[in-house]
Amino acid sequence: MAEVILKNICKVYDGGVKAVDNANIHINDKEFVVLVGPSGCGKSTTLRMVAGLEDITDGDLLIDGKRVNDEAPKDRDIAMVFQNYALYPHMTVYDNMAFGLKIRKYAKDEIETRVNEAARILDIEELLSRKPKALSGGQRQRVAVGRAIVRKPKVFLFDEPLSNLDAKLRVQMRAEISGLHAKLQATMIYVTHDQVEAMTMGDKIVVMKNGVIQQIGTPLKLYNEPINRFVAGFIGSPPMNILTAKIVEENGSIVVKGAGVSVVPGKEYEEGLKPYVGKEIFFGVRPEDLEEVRKVDPNNFITANVDVIEPLGAETHVWLSTAESTLIARTAPSSDFKVGDEISFTCNLSKIHFFEMENERSIFFKED
Ligand code: ADP
Repeated sequence: MAEVILKNICKVYDGGVKAVDNANIHINDKEFVVLVGPSGCGKSTTLRMVAGLEDITDGDLLIDGKRVNDEAPKDRDIAMVFQNYALYPHMTVYDNMAFGLKIRKYAKDEIETRVNEAARILDIEELLSRKPKALSGGQRQRVAVGRAIVRKPKVFLFDEPLSNLDAKLRVQMRAEISGLHAKLQATMIYVTHDQVEAMTMGDKIVVMKNGVIQQIGTPLKLYNEPINRFVAGFIGSPPMNILTAKIVEENGSIVVKGAGVSVVPGKEYEEGLKPYVGKEIFFGVRPEDLEEVRKVDPNNFITANVDVIEPLGAETHVWLSTAESTLIARTAPSSDFKVGDEISFTCNLSKIHFFEMENERSIFFKED
């Protein structure tokens, strides 16, 4: 059992930087939780407070129901894997993995059993006698993970562990760490700035911005029901298109109007949008929810000019602009657009989003 709860956790660094502002996160036993957000949003600070590497300014940190704010890192039964691996260069892989157990005075047999088991799980048995400098980046990363595994900790913490690897290896290691989570059935907290890592690995994602948690949810919840404009733009690649538009009433219907945009969103949105008639809002639609049409539907169109075409093989991304906004459409690889073309799209009306102009909150967001 290892449940981690952050209750109203705050961190103010010397000098007054408020790095984490009132974080509340409930991490269930065996859950893989990813903290994600742009650089400087407070992810590492949050993780380091869980590890005990940073003091907690305010709030409670509970592991399995016990408040551990004042416990030393070594007493928290947590293992952390860092971005820079932090391997000892003069030790072999075996000794690097055994080190944490040796200083905790484990018996030699037990150490050997645990190191061999971890090496088997990570497929690095043949590397045990090598020194770190004779390893590739991916192998070093596995050793760093191995050093955490041998401890059989209650909780694993990962701080951007893949960011030093090249793109291909990152994809492979991503799958390996997910596989490891399934195998070990351990509680894991993982920090990354990469939303693709977050989406593919997390059971639950915590999106942070400027020290404040924006939203917590499953990857698909965040993708389909972002709480605000920031989450909408951060989760998803290419990101959601967000256009400035005005809500107006025409012939008894609510209409979203903007430069090159006229969309009647339909009955299910009428009630919620009524208070915004005459006001500007942000209108969101994901690149895959735009469908190119030859014949413009007067009740549902975005018309824009092609700026850039990116053929990716399986699909093509088309960058476009209206007089007011830029947007991206995801289209079939066979599309024959040219730069400068004017194209009209219809929006998938079941997948459109509206955000308030002032506080950027989603107008239709419902808490679970
Ligand atoms: P992230 O991991 O999301 O990139 P961090 O948790 O490292 O963000 O940092 C959050 C904020 O706290 C940033 O503004 C950063 O500059 C600041 N910060 C981080 N470490 C320290 C420190 N030791 N002293 C003062 N400010 C810090």
